[in-house]
Amino acid sequence: MSTKQSRSSGEFALVTGASSGIGRAVALRLIEDGMHVINFDLNTPAAINPHETFVKVDVSNESELRSALANVSAQHCITRLVNNAGIVRPATIEHATTADLHAVMNVNVAAAIICAQSLLPGMRAAKFGRIVNISSRAALGKAERIVYATTKAAIHGFTRTLALEVAADGITVNAIGPGPIATELFTSANPPEAPATKRILETVPLRRIGKPDEVAHLVASLLDERAGYTTGQVIYVCGGMTVGLAL
Ligand code: NAD
Repeated sequence: MSTKQSRSSGEFALVTGASSGIGRAVALRLIEDGMHVINFDLNTPAAINPHETFVKVDVSNESELRSALANVSAQHCITRLVNNAGIVRPATIEHATTADLHAVMNVNVAAAIICAQSLLPGMRAAKFGRIVNISSRAALGKAERIVYATTKAAIHGFTRTLALEVAADGITVNAIGPGPIATELFTSANPPEAPATKRILETVPLRRIGKPDEVAHLVASLLDERAGYTTGQVIYVCGGMTVGLAL
């Protein structure tokens, strides 16, 4: 086995929404891999890791977000970005409001674009960068998720287009679409005893809800320097749900 230290050791990664759920698992995994994580979240994590800088910021507030990004970029060369913060607001077409649309768009899409815009000059200067956008299996369609699915499908267009614009500078951009993952966001929208939740489980070929660590593993892999030939892709971590129905 090679003893060469990976380039990720000691480098800085910005992860939005890293105080809980998938973002927390990503932050702890990147720290385990030797990185320093900058966590932009509304809420303080239960315990701030010594290799973590927590910045309290509402990523849906453009001026607040831009100022937090300018501060961290002035202090560190950040070559990894994980756009993870997300909200849902479940509703059918009859009940979805434009207020929901704007609120979810601001967190799930606008914040991702603003974070990439702010960090790209540093990545371009370094001739290296890795961006991972957290999408959702729901981008392919999910009833009662009109607004959410719309924003996650938008993330796919953003990922593919940005990948092309920055490729020449050695920067890769990919999206990960989780299926059902056991986090606060999932269980609040899908209570464990609800018939709809049980039906979801029946459609997962692996027959279980995924773990945040299982998403974090793919994020860490795509952020690795050695993942340099994978860009513009949307990869699902969904227990096989996007493939089809199992027996
Ligand atoms: P979560 O609610 O457990 O965690 C989300 C984190 O984002 C929280 O720490 C929250 O404080 C933070 N956040 C929310 N709004 C914010 C804002 N305006 N500013 C700053 N921080 C904010 O959610 P999760 O399940 O870990 O989801 C993480 C990502 O994964 C989201 O993009 C979500 O759409 C996606 N996803 C989750 C699932 C799932 O089953 N859990 C499935 C598909 C996709």
